Amino acid sequence: MRAIQDLLRPIIKSIKPYSSARDEYSGVDGVFLDANENPIGSVTGGPFNRYPDPYQREAKQKLAPLKGVKPEQIFLGNGSDEAIDLVFRAFCEPRVDNVIILPPTYGMYRVCADINDVAVKEVSLTEDFQIDVDAVLASIDENTKAIWLCSPNNPTGNLLNEWDILAILNQFDGLVVVDEAYFDFAGVASMATKLDEFKNLIVLQTFSKAWGMAGLRIGMAIADAEIIAVFNKIKYPYNLNTTTQLELIKALDKEPQKDLMVKEILEQRNWLFSEFEKITAIRKIYNSHSNSLLIIIDDAHETYNKLIEKLVVVRDRSNVKLCEGCLRVTVGTRTENEILVAEIKKIHA
Ligand SMILES: *Cc1c(COP(=O)(O)O)cnc(C)c1O
Repeated sequence: MRAIQDLLRPIIKSIKPYSSARDEYSGVDGVFLDANENPIGSVTGGPFNRYPDPYQREAKQKLAPLKGVKPEQIFLGNGSDEAIDLVFRAFCEPRVDNVIILPPTYGMYRVCADINDVAVKEVSLTEDFQIDVDAVLASIDENTKAIWLCSPNNPTGNLLNEWDILAILNQFDGLVVVDEAYFDFAGVASMATKLDEFKNLIVLQTFSKAWGMAGLRIGMAIADAEIIAVFNKIKYPYNLNTTTQLELIKALDKEPQKDLMVKEILEQRNWLFSEFEKITAIRKIYNSHSNSLLIIIDDAHETYNKLIEKLVVVRDRSNVKLCEGCLRVTVGTRTENEILVAEIKKIHA
């Protein structure tokens, strides 16, 4: 593969980052007169008068062993969306470089590419939502900087075949981003276990789904320390606020609670699957390794609208290529799922 330094945008290589007060002195003790903070307190009484740790050291110390990596291999961001954006800002020269995405997939890869004025090449997933490895490899050119893979994929819910991901990693000399937002529901090993083998691998995970912390905005990129150092250099200095960092540190003691919720959600997914099987208007239920089910249903768009009238909100994917006639349903609580099933039955009575 190409060296990280060769993949970087020239401007990023030469940039001198902003050096915050907390960069220049990172000790915990001291008389802090360096950051123009309010020494008395905050108006709400919370511990907010001091700037937070720009590198979230305490959280990363606890998180690293959980993920089986070193703290310096972890970037924490304001949602994994921040990490997605940083890949473009660090590595993709506007109007020169391009990336490859595999639709149907998560919309943010294209949005971030567009915002950063980076061209996107689309290579559709196969009919069963797997990687067309030959087509992906054929579409690589000298300006292709990154290939975006999402496993389990959104909105389809399926895992990508690991041997296909490895084939891409082995044959592409740029970055391969594997978005594992739904990793906790999949019951398979993370690609992060392959970081020593592949310096060009970036794994994205999030606290928004299984951990139930979407409102706090915490995402992570796990990658070679050299890549993480680049992200740290160009991110906003204080990208995770104090509340978020404190809650994250608390959360990391509660992995068993996360696991219990995942178990419950997977049970509910099975229940929903079996109920959907009894509804004839539902023509197909795709297998899911995620916390959602993609279904083909008669009159999908109309069904969506009628559900909205009942204040039951699912995702209409019926206009998405390869998802024609599809709705994506997030697995809810038993009560919520019962309401959904009852309303679908009424609509298609
Ligand atoms: C939900 C989701 C994310 C998570 O984004 P956050 O910014 O961390 O909330 C990332 N990737 C995919 C594919 C998702 O579905």
